[in-house]
Amino acid sequence: MSKTIAINAGSSSLKWKLFKMPEENTLASGIVERIGLNDSIFTIKYNNGEKYEEIVDINDHEVAVEMLLKQLTELGIIKDFNEITGVGHRVVAGGEIFQESALVTDEVIEQIESLAEFAPLHNPANATGIKAFRKILPDITSVAVFDTSFHQTMPKVNYLYSVPLEYYEKHNARKYGAHGTSHKYVALKAADMLEKPIEDLKIITCHLGNGASITAVNGGESIDTSMGFTPLAGVTMGTRSGDIDASLLPFLMEKEGIETINDMVYILNNKSGLKGLSGISSDMRDLEDAEETDERAALALRIFEDRVVKYIGSYAATMNGVDAIVFTAGIGENGVETRKNIIDRVTFLGATIDEEKNNVRGKERIISTDDSKVSVLLVPTDEEVMIARDVQKFSE
Ligand code: ADP
Repeated sequence: MSKTIAINAGSSSLKWKLFKMPEENTLASGIVERIGLNDSIFTIKYNNGEKYEEIVDINDHEVAVEMLLKQLTELGIIKDFNEITGVGHRVVAGGEIFQESALVTDEVIEQIESLAEFAPLHNPANATGIKAFRKILPDITSVAVFDTSFHQTMPKVNYLYSVPLEYYEKHNARKYGAHGTSHKYVALKAADMLEKPIEDLKIITCHLGNGASITAVNGGESIDTSMGFTPLAGVTMGTRSGDIDASLLPFLMEKEGIETINDMVYILNNKSGLKGLSGISSDMRDLEDAEETDERAALALRIFEDRVVKYIGSYAATMNGVDAIVFTAGIGENGVETRKNIIDRVTFLGATIDEEKNNVRGKERIISTDDSKVSVLLVPTDEEVMIARDVQKFSE
């Protein structure tokens, strides 16, 4: 029996899920928050509904991992550390180095750190999580799973920016995309639900969470995706602007007295999107609550839907057709109105939503009408199980 843990380490957090493999049964999950700050929050969910929580100062990721393993044992979720035979780590940027998941070695850790330029907030934190586990459980199978690798099948035509080609050749400046693990999972699941080989399908996957991205999956391969060199590009997001005209940057910097380009990019990443447009919140639920009485909230919602519609149209053109549109992540899984408003604008493609079937949250379901030419599906994402599957591949 093998137990595998999937890890998503942020700069001050560590999210995890423990699986029994190869059955893919979830044994426990949890999160450590506020690592490095006072009153860190340590939570474990287990036994289908039981919860353990502790507020305690956790200085760094290594302490978090030690505490996690100790509590897993004390709560009887594992008898011994040795039961955990594999760990998989989510890593945001794999650049062009990592076409697929990789067994962790010193060199791999160095490479992940060297890619920090591509994901300054995420990669160093991901590497910290990897090192913490390596120190405490040095002998288990440790695998790095990259958000970008699913998109490494994109053709040059789609990943190059129309800037001097030397910039790509010299600096690897190109589109990498993100959320790859999620897009891959929901595309595979959709093919499964439609009972068709993925090789025969043209699928548009819409991962709509705080961060949002759309991917064109042709025959099981990502051929284009809305995020870019970094996750700032693409559709309107919770706090990110998505696509804009780059000339806006110097103009706004001058008008608003924004001193550095980094300050400007910070605004585009953190103060824009639904939050900046509405002036209320980055959270879809808050905007839906305010929509009736607040024009800005309603406008932000319509802009969000519009950008998703534009990408769906564009990717249907890129693939010269579409068989299925898949919704996932917080908004995609729960935003009943958002899904309807989006699909109602792409009926020209042959997609029709079934309002009754669509009236569901967080459950796997085909939500188009029986006679819809394009299937529309709701598929809750599960990035962790994809990570555990990749660890399994290296363990066999
Ligand atoms: P993250 O990118 O942080 O993982 P999530 O996938 O959790 O984000 O998605 C968060 C988004 O999902 C938020 O905008 C939230 O408002 C939205 N969301 C969650 N539940 C609902 C709901 N019931 N109706 C509409 N939107 C929802």
